[in-house]
Amino acid sequence: MTQPFSTVNVLGYDFIRATQQEFVDQLKKDSDEHANRFVVTANPEIVLTALNDPKYSDVIKGSDYLTADGIGIVKGAAILGESLPERVTGYDTMCAILKWADKAHKSVYFLGARSEVISTMIEKIRSDYPGLQIAGYHDGYFKDDTEIVSEIAASGPDFVFCALGFPRQEYFIARNRRAADAIWMGIGGSFDVLAGYAERAPQWWIDHHIEWLYRLVKEPSRFIRMLALPKYLLLVLKSRLTGRR
Ligand code: UDP
Repeated sequence: MTQPFSTVNVLGYDFIRATQQEFVDQLKKDSDEHANRFVVTANPEIVLTALNDPKYSDVIKGSDYLTADGIGIVKGAAILGESLPERVTGYDTMCAILKWADKAHKSVYFLGARSEVISTMIEKIRSDYPGLQIAGYHDGYFKDDTEIVSEIAASGPDFVFCALGFPRQEYFIARNRRAADAIWMGIGGSFDVLAGYAERAPQWWIDHHIEWLYRLVKEPSRFIRMLALPKYLLLVLKSRLTGRR
């Protein structure tokens, strides 16, 4: 496809230069054209994993849109003297698309999270977005793709949201995206948030770019995972000093 956005290369990965709104508008356009798209919303942890795993790296590079989901990516671009307008998160993108899908009667397939989480979320979606068509749903704890992929192919959704956590969700999409011409997007723990099983940081923390700190306070067990942020920034700094991206 022709990339509608300019991109900023950080550590070998091309992030789209788009605001949250511009990105959502592009997805609506793609969806209206029945385009097949693979969206990766990447944070520093995803990039570090990709840097250490050539197979995952190829999957990320094979996406159509790579967005900066994480202040670390935006700061990383700034360290290189480039600018990314803002974070474009999986959660915000999903919420905006759900609203639109409600009005435009688009259909969505939901895949991922624990069984009780997805059931609660589906109930909520039925009541909050009555115009949205639920193409189908399945929890994220399955062994074999086959049945789920046949269901996706048969229902022909406009969007497939995969909340399997990384890297599983990106591998799943890369393997199966040809089953339906839809917008396929990996969205991590977003179903837990939507269903009310996990909390997103209050707006103040988000506005002050410390959503990561809020998550750390709430879930101290994520500490090791969060070391990805300083590690990533150090790598970007190093790449700036050596002139290699
Ligand atoms: N998950 C899943 N299948 C798996 C592993 C994880 O559906 O095999 C779900 C898990 O229930 C959670 C999400 O994937 O809803 C991962 O959440 P996390 O907050 O770790 O993701 P992040 O947004 O940090 O990537």
